[in-house]
Amino acid sequence: IPALSVRGLRKTYDNRVQALKGVSLDVAQGDFFALLGPNGAGKSTLIGIVSSLVNLSEGSVSIFGTDLVRERDAAMRLIGLVPQELNFNMFEKPLDILVNYAGFYGVPRAQAIERAEVELRRAQLWDKAQMMSRTLSGGMKRRLMIARAMMTRPRLLILDEPTAGVDIEIRRGMWQTLREINAAGTTIILTTHYLEEAEHLCRNLAIIDRGAIVASGPMKALLARL
Ligand code: ADP
Ligand code: ADP
Repeated sequence: IPALSVRGLRKTYDNRVQALKGVSLDVAQGDFFALLGPNGAGKSTLIGIVSSLVNLSEGSVSIFGTDLVRERDAAMRLIGLVPQELNFNMFEKPLDILVNYAGFYGVPRAQAIERAEVELRRAQLWDKAQMMSRTLSGGMKRRLMIARAMMTRPRLLILDEPTAGVDIEIRRGMWQTLREINAAGTTIILTTHYLEEAEHLCRNLAIIDRGAIVASGPMKALLARL
């Protein structure tokens, strides 16, 4: 079974914008997958539906075989989401942010502390664990967002334009963390409008434009056609 399976997905917003016009796609377990497309293509809408933030109008979504509409809670437990905007408390320490987040999702405290060390190390933030988050650099704050999402041990990590508006050094640091997470077995899907980012990170991709998938397949095969 795929990590993500989307069939005939349509989304029409209340203002009648047709953001998705019948999207179907599969993302295999273990894949590092990019959804590439220009602004307004429907990337955030698709990610929003998969992470249950946006209601779908028509079609189906299943996550490791679990139907998103019929078994929403079970499906959501398989997902970790990294939103685009920094939304942690800048006056908390990274360690506390991670442990409290896991606690909110029912992870026992001792286990949360163990996981926090693993995730902070992987995000190269272990030496910053006890600093005020406000004082972290832009790249560190972004990696903290990724580390936090991993605290619930998601099987599928979803990132909506994780590197929009950040410079190349920050992007490289995030890429490193994401590669390690993927190498350890977590399936990753990210949206991006940077071809370069998709090219560096991802094995497979889909290109979306005006609410429809216009190409999809292995990165190498698609690059050869561009
Ligand atoms: P849903 O069907 O998922 O509940 P809605 O159609 O109700 O989504 O829209 C969610 C909110 O986003 C609304 O308050 C709407 O006003 C606002 N919104 C409207 N147009 C846009 C747009 N082009 N981009 C982003 N948000 C918008
Ligand atoms: P992308 O992430 O690729 O930039 P979006 O999914 O944000 O694309 O947007 C796809 C289309 O849907 C755009 O025309 C956008 O204006 C519209 N849209 C996005 N969110 C909303 C919303 N909440 N309400 C109404 N229209 C929206």
